[in-house]
Amino acid sequence: MSHISVAIDGPSGAGKSTLARRAAEELGFRYLDTGAIYRTVGLAARESGVDPGDSASVIGLLPGLGLDIVFDENGLQHMVLKGRDVSREIRENDISRYASQVSAIPQVREFLLELQRKFAREHDVVMDGRDIGTVVLPDAEVKVFLTAAAEDRAQRRYQELKAQGQPVDYESILSQVLERDRNDTTRSAAPLRQAEDAIRLDTTGLSQEESLARLLKLIRERLGTS
Ligand code: C5P
Repeated sequence: MSHISVAIDGPSGAGKSTLARRAAEELGFRYLDTGAIYRTVGLAARESGVDPGDSASVIGLLPGLGLDIVFDENGLQHMVLKGRDVSREIRENDISRYASQVSAIPQVREFLLELQRKFAREHDVVMDGRDIGTVVLPDAEVKVFLTAAAEDRAQRRYQELKAQGQPVDYESILSQVLERDRNDTTRSAAPLRQAEDAIRLDTTGLSQEESLARLLKLIRERLGTS
C-alpha cells in the first residue's frame, strides 16, 4: 500500500514543528521531526568532544552512532542515542549550532537519507525539515514552505527558551536566527530553498491557531479531501 507524504520545509523558528505535529494529529498521520535527528547527531558530536565543524571527525562518529527514533503511545517522537532518551537534551540552545554545523556535511545527510525515506514508505506522514520537498521526498503529495519574518521567529524562540528557564536575551537570539538562516541557505549540501512545487505559507503576525487553520486548508485542498 502506498502512503501519503506531506513535506513541510522552512527556516528555523517558523513554527514548523508545532504546526506539523498538530496537522499530523488532525490528519491521523505520523509526524516526523527531521531537525531532531540532526540535533541528535549534533549532541553525539558534543558528547564525544568533537568539533562540529571538523567533518572528518563527525563522519568518524557515524558508524557507531547508535541513533534510534521511537514513538510513544501518544505518537510522540523520541530520539535515542546508544539506548538513552535524549529528547530533552537535543533542545538545549547550543545544540542548535551543533546541529546546523553537522547538517552541512554531505556524508551526514547521506547517512540520514534512507532512514527518512523508509519512514515515509511505511507511514502516512507529515515530515518537517529543510530539504524534505527538495531532496528527501521529491514526490511528496503536498509540499509546504513555511516561513515568517526573522524578528517574529526570534521572538518565538526567545519566549520558548525563557519559558524553559534558560538564560537568554532577544538580540542574541535574533543574531543566532540570522546566522542559522545563513548557514542553512548557503551550504552546498541540500541548502534550504523552496521547492518549485511547494506552496508558500508566511505566518508572520499570525497566531498558531490561524497558521494551523491555513496549513490544514491547503493540505486538504491538495489532497482533495477538503
Ligand atoms: O528544525 P531544527 O531547528 O530542530 O533543526 C536543527 C538543524 O538541523 C537546523 O539548523 C538545520 O541546519 C538542520 N536540519 C537540516 N535538514 C533537515 C532538518 C534540520 O539540515 N531536514
